[in-house]
Amino acid sequence: MALQQGNISIHAQNIMPIIKRWLYSDKDIFIRELVSNGCDAITKQKMLTPGSEIEYKVTVTVDEKAGEIRFSDNGIGMSAEEVEKYINQVAFSGAEEFLKNYEGDEKGGIIGHFGLGFYSAFMVADRVTIETKSETADPVRWVSEDGMAFTMSEGSRSERGTDIILHIAEEEKEFADEFRVRQVLKRYCSFMNTPVYLEVIKEEAPKSEEAAEGEAPAIEVKEPERINPNAALWLKAPKDCTDEEYKKFYHDVFHTFEDPLFYVHLNVDYPFNLKGILYFPKLTNDFGTREGEIKLFSGQVFVADNIKEVIPEFLMLLKGVIDCPDLPLNVSRSFLQNDGYVKKLSAYITRKVADKLTGLFNTERSQYEGYWEDIHPFVKYGCMRDGKFFEQVKDTLLLKTTAGTHMTLSEYLSKNEGKLGGKKVIYTSDPMRQSASIAHYETEGIDVVVLDALIDLNFVSFMEYSAGVEGLSFARVDADAATFAKEQSEEEKQQNQANEKVLADLFAAATGNQELAVQLTALKDPSMPGMLVQDEQGRRFSEMGKIYGQDFKLPEHFTLVLNAENAVVKNLLTLEDGEKRDMMAAQLYDLARMSTRPLEKDEITAFLNRSGKLLELLCK
Ligand code: ADP
Ligand code: MG
Repeated sequence: MALQQGNISIHAQNIMPIIKRWLYSDKDIFIRELVSNGCDAITKQKMLTPGSEIEYKVTVTVDEKAGEIRFSDNGIGMSAEEVEKYINQVAFSGAEEFLKNYEGDEKGGIIGHFGLGFYSAFMVADRVTIETKSETADPVRWVSEDGMAFTMSEGSRSERGTDIILHIAEEEKEFADEFRVRQVLKRYCSFMNTPVYLEVIKEEAPKSEEAAEGEAPAIEVKEPERINPNAALWLKAPKDCTDEEYKKFYHDVFHTFEDPLFYVHLNVDYPFNLKGILYFPKLTNDFGTREGEIKLFSGQVFVADNIKEVIPEFLMLLKGVIDCPDLPLNVSRSFLQNDGYVKKLSAYITRKVADKLTGLFNTERSQYEGYWEDIHPFVKYGCMRDGKFFEQVKDTLLLKTTAGTHMTLSEYLSKNEGKLGGKKVIYTSDPMRQSASIAHYETEGIDVVVLDALIDLNFVSFMEYSAGVEGLSFARVDADAATFAKEQSEEEKQQNQANEKVLADLFAAATGNQELAVQLTALKDPSMPGMLVQDEQGRRFSEMGKIYGQDFKLPEHFTLVLNAENAVVKNLLTLEDGEKRDMMAAQLYDLARMSTRPLEKDEITAFLNRSGKLLELLCK
């Protein structure tokens, strides 16, 4: 063939600089693009000659000394006409599409895969050579330095297949490096459908100093290394996968020794093509700081991690792989966000996850309860983010009690509603600190549930609003004393109101806290002098403020509930003014505080001093 020269297309002049600039951050994708072109060429060849015994493979050779990377395949190859058509002219249509996207979406980012795959080589190379041969045609060599002007001549390849040789530009030398290339190959090509090998040619380090001075350094050629030894398990039919395989795959892909809790295998062909495996990892309470990892593949080629546009945000707490070969990845992210197809995909994934949870709940309740500790932040978060998900899983939501049992909301209500006199859930946000308040309920035979995760603060409000239970409310163990109150006659109540006023003044003076609200109520247990309660809504509001970093201090709504039936309280009402009465009031206040939370440093000191004095009084 005679030497031929030409320009790829008039548009290419506009395109190449843009490609180089635009893709700057994602330069390493050229490796993915060239390897997947090799795989594609092999797939085509396999279709032409099915059943052939040939060992198909793509080999990536890094020659550190020459500053070259070679992508070699024994696929279908190209004739001169095909190079003309697929390399020289296709750039044209691909480029136009690229430009359209580029103009429409200045900052959105483009996922890759826009039919400019081959040309991505020019992001890093200052010379790209194609040596190719198709079965029946003469070999062809194609060379270009800038992706715009090229030469074509007779090639040197004797066997069918293609070599793409990149001479790496000086400023991109990091890519002519064994470790860098291996890292990129592992990232993108670990599950490609054709064996991919990495071969390295490098200068051997001189063995001794004399050798370093004298001889030229020896060249070392490393054994080809298989990049994708593991099969893409997600493509196997779920019924043919064993538990062991799922676990091993999880270990391999996420480089961990830990086992996942359980997993969901996604496998549909219609109405869209979606395969994947989602794993529930062991999670911890502060879900906000944790990141899951969902790898998106397109036909076994890795595309990106955690694509928010495709995978519902709350599912990002999971780990797994998702393969959607038909996803329009050649478009901008903002387009994906509004795409109906993508919405359906994402709804499907959500539903499968919900199905898994309800399935476990219905058939393996005790196992499901065991998982709850690990999965509840995820499930709750999902409920708040996605109404459909909530509808599907709401009957599987569990409440863990301080006794370590688990109940659904309706189980809790039917067991405790009578004693609580309404659709109320009593919870603790800190079983240790609130143990005294918890004990009040436990002695009444009322279940207290533990809601101590960061997410629970939002979750209780969410449930009150969305659970569909009329009049449902959550109250922390220290939110009110109503449960312990005793029936009283109208007369007694009036008497209490009058006494309440007296006690309020007395406590304000004794504790030095003028803001302190005092309430006098008859409680069932006469031995309990009083308790400190904090308005549920007000407390939630101020805690919310703390979480979202508001620095103004919201007033805290504490009320000291005194027991009208208690001997000490009655006694206070009859005692004369004086140190003794003030000490008793202050002591009572401290005891009430202690049943809500441990005293702070200064408070403890005061409490201990006063306790000593009170004991002295007893000696008199
Ligand atoms: P795409 O892969 O999306 O078609 P590319 O720019 O990656 O776009 O490749 C353009 C075309 O060049 C391919 O469709 C194919 O026909 C041809 N081609 C590229 N690499 C090879 C190869 N290694 N072997 C055979 N044909 C190839
Ligand atoms: Mg391609």
